Amino acid sequence: MKVNEIRQKYLDFFASKGHQVVSSSPVVPGDDPTLLFTNAGMNQFKDVFLGFDKRPYSRATTAQKCIRAGGKHNDLDNVGYTARHHTFFEMLGNFSFGDYFKEDAIQFAWELLTEVFQLPKEKLLVTVYSEDQEAFDIWTKKVGVLPERVIRIGDNKGARYASDNFWMMGDTGPCGPCTEIFYDHGPEIAGGPPGSPDEDGDRYIEIWNNVFMQFNRDENGVMHPLPKKSVDTGMGLERISAVLQHVHSNYEIDLFVHLIAAAKAAVDQAGGNQCDPNSPSLKVIADHVRACSFTIVDGVIPGNAGRGYVLRRITRRAIRHGYKLGARTPFFYSIVKSLVQEMGSAYPELVQQEEKITEVIRMEEERFFQTIANGMEILEEAISQLGQNQPANTLDGEIAFKLHDTFGFPLDLTADVCRERNVQVDEVGFEKCMQHQRDQARAAGKFKMAQGLEYQGPATQFVGYDHLHSEQSTVLALYVD
Ligand code: ATP
Ligand code: MG
Ligand code: MG
Ligand code: MG
Repeated sequence: MKVNEIRQKYLDFFASKGHQVVSSSPVVPGDDPTLLFTNAGMNQFKDVFLGFDKRPYSRATTAQKCIRAGGKHNDLDNVGYTARHHTFFEMLGNFSFGDYFKEDAIQFAWELLTEVFQLPKEKLLVTVYSEDQEAFDIWTKKVGVLPERVIRIGDNKGARYASDNFWMMGDTGPCGPCTEIFYDHGPEIAGGPPGSPDEDGDRYIEIWNNVFMQFNRDENGVMHPLPKKSVDTGMGLERISAVLQHVHSNYEIDLFVHLIAAAKAAVDQAGGNQCDPNSPSLKVIADHVRACSFTIVDGVIPGNAGRGYVLRRITRRAIRHGYKLGARTPFFYSIVKSLVQEMGSAYPELVQQEEKITEVIRMEEERFFQTIANGMEILEEAISQLGQNQPANTLDGEIAFKLHDTFGFPLDLTADVCRERNVQVDEVGFEKCMQHQRDQARAAGKFKMAQGLEYQGPATQFVGYDHLHSEQSTVLALYVD
């Protein structure tokens, strides 16, 4: 089954269980200042869970565009390193607004996985919140999962491990205990079961989280019971696709095989000279073209603050990975075409805005290709000198600052290069330099209050290159000059 069919099967299954199929909301959340980007399917229903908003349905199902590249959920640094993380991904979800609760949610999930998708039961593992006896009993007594395959996990406060069975959208908002379903990709892959010391390996991959929405957490961390007990679930489309396509990594599913091939062709064309098709850098590029394209569709353009800066950082990271493989001229923009082919039928906004996306990325590439070679030379030189300095594995904050200030290297890009060599960046030193520069600018009366500003231009319509160029250069002038 192809990714596009799996998405549809999920939505059809929940439609057959009385759920309204609702479209994905944009990746830029409408009016939620607590959120940089949409990070879960439940975001568009936040006010419904809180009881502030009513819908004509009490059950819904979605395939939601999500970005986890900042804020509480940030997977940017996982991309290229794990088999299961993306910056942009699709979260399949089913929701109950005061309708069904734990028992139906768990039974729907089990039916979909073991009957519709026909996954072998012995490959599935389940976690429940340590204090949630009710969920434990549903799994073991009603569904019939063996008790040794249901692992109790706490809320991670002070825990040594990353597992967490109490889900929160952010520091405030709807939240509750959850139960998660993991798939065992087999003993040949390193990693232990959830809750074990080596759970961060990729053998047992979390595919589905079922959250029992019960509380609203306020700024002081106090949990207020929600007006109605509800359900919010999230299953990564790319992760379930990997399982159903009998591959281990998300990057081996049909969608990514095509994007990675397109990334390789683009890099080779730009000077890559038959780059290694298995390079993790190609995965990073294929991941990032999705995140960049979908944020541009929703009206963000690269800038120096807020969402625009996240977009700039992701774009420049992708460019740096292409550069590492030998690309010396813009290449990243040309992959957009393949993305539109892969995902345009599910997301027509990609088709409508293909030209705009391509052009915005191309302009950012042209800009960054002017400085990347000199910046990389300085960075390489600094890293090669490290052996002679103390501490040997830390890059000087001043160099990171110079790269940022003169060559347009975001700090996380420098850190990404350094990480490949087991080198860390002195972030405190970097921050000191930043502060010094701010103080000087303020003293000279030139401080431009750039922080917090963001491109507010037309969100969905591409009205022509000239217009775009002038909008963009005005905004860039505001920030950069
Ligand atoms: P992980 O522990 O693997 O980082 P998570 O616990 O942070 O995942 P949830 O917040 O529970 O993830 O999100 C629900 C589901 O969305 C996950 O079970 C997974 O299938 C999917 N998912 C989460 N983060 C990502 C990501 N960065 N890329 C792809 N899929 C993801
Ligand atoms: Mg995570
Ligand atoms: Mg998890
Ligand atoms: Mg989870």
